Amino acid sequence: MKEELKVYDNVLQLIGNTPLIQINKITKGFKGDFFAKVESFNPGHSAKDRIALYIIEEAERKGILKPGSTIVETTSGNTGFSIAMVSVIKGYECILAVSSKASKDKIDMLKTMGAKVYVCPAHVAADDPRSYYQVAKRIHSETKNSVYINQYFNELNMEAHYRTTGPEIWKQTEGKITHLIACSGTGGTISGTARYLKEQNPEVKIIGIDAYGSVLKKFHETREFDSEEIYPYRIEGLGKNLIPTATDFDVIDQFVKVTDEESAHTARELAKTEGLFLGYTSGAAMQGIKQLAEEGEFDENSKIVTIFPDHGSRYMSKVYSDDWMNEQGFFDTKNEAAAQEIEF
Ligand code: PMP
Repeated sequence: MKEELKVYDNVLQLIGNTPLIQINKITKGFKGDFFAKVESFNPGHSAKDRIALYIIEEAERKGILKPGSTIVETTSGNTGFSIAMVSVIKGYECILAVSSKASKDKIDMLKTMGAKVYVCPAHVAADDPRSYYQVAKRIHSETKNSVYINQYFNELNMEAHYRTTGPEIWKQTEGKITHLIACSGTGGTISGTARYLKEQNPEVKIIGIDAYGSVLKKFHETREFDSEEIYPYRIEGLGKNLIPTATDFDVIDQFVKVTDEESAHTARELAKTEGLFLGYTSGAAMQGIKQLAEEGEFDENSKIVTIFPDHGSRYMSKVYSDDWMNEQGFFDTKNEAAAQEIEF
């Protein structure tokens, strides 16, 4: 049980210092001890709170941001929500240029948090002036004292995790961690955390989780961008069709690819076995651990830490909807939905 009850000045003081929770049942039969850094405990329900707060406070330190300034980004996902939340508390205008592919729920959520949302056409090239990249860039260049978070190409993304997530995990495991298994999207989480952990102990093995349809694993192995690796996939927030400079590939030892289907089932299994209601990529990270355990990566002395990036509430109409699972054909092989239907 938590020992201390204290009053916080505002919600931002609750960012970071997330719990490390032992994973007990889903890992039954695997060698080693398994722990999860559960980032849904951040007030914005994801690890992105860390980068939003860090990047914004760095800009404040440099004198770029002043009350009334503007913060710009190009995401409808977790980062957008976190930036909006930080902006509310600090009194900045938050402008998010998002793709027309973003769901209405997501756009409404951002607006609820006070963000101004520009919905930009999805099917135009990145260099088209109507694309969300170009719209964000234009707003940033035309707005004095504005900050463009640009999470895929901002080294402060990695630094946020180097300064917070890494030290927290080192402390929480009392330096006993042997493996870090983490999703890679922008790569900020895995590279920043890994860089810190490797500085403490170069033997800590760092394994990234990538999606089929993404270029990251191949790039890590060959240092070449292979567009043939790219095809659509379902998991959101993991993998990429470009090489983000926010990723330090040198601190990552290996990548593992996971499928949409197995990751979805594993996310659902985490809820039922560990009581953890988490996002799709948490299922992907856990799926990666299962595959690694089967390959014999861990032994009795392994202390494996994974990072679960966000909360399950954002996936109600996807992974946690039986209809969605059926539409994807994900129940065909396991016949889970059929088994759950009871007719009266
Ligand atoms: N999971 C989710 C749900 C995310 O939104 C992201 C961010 N794109 C990631 C994992 C990957 O984190 P990072 O960008 O730090 O690599």
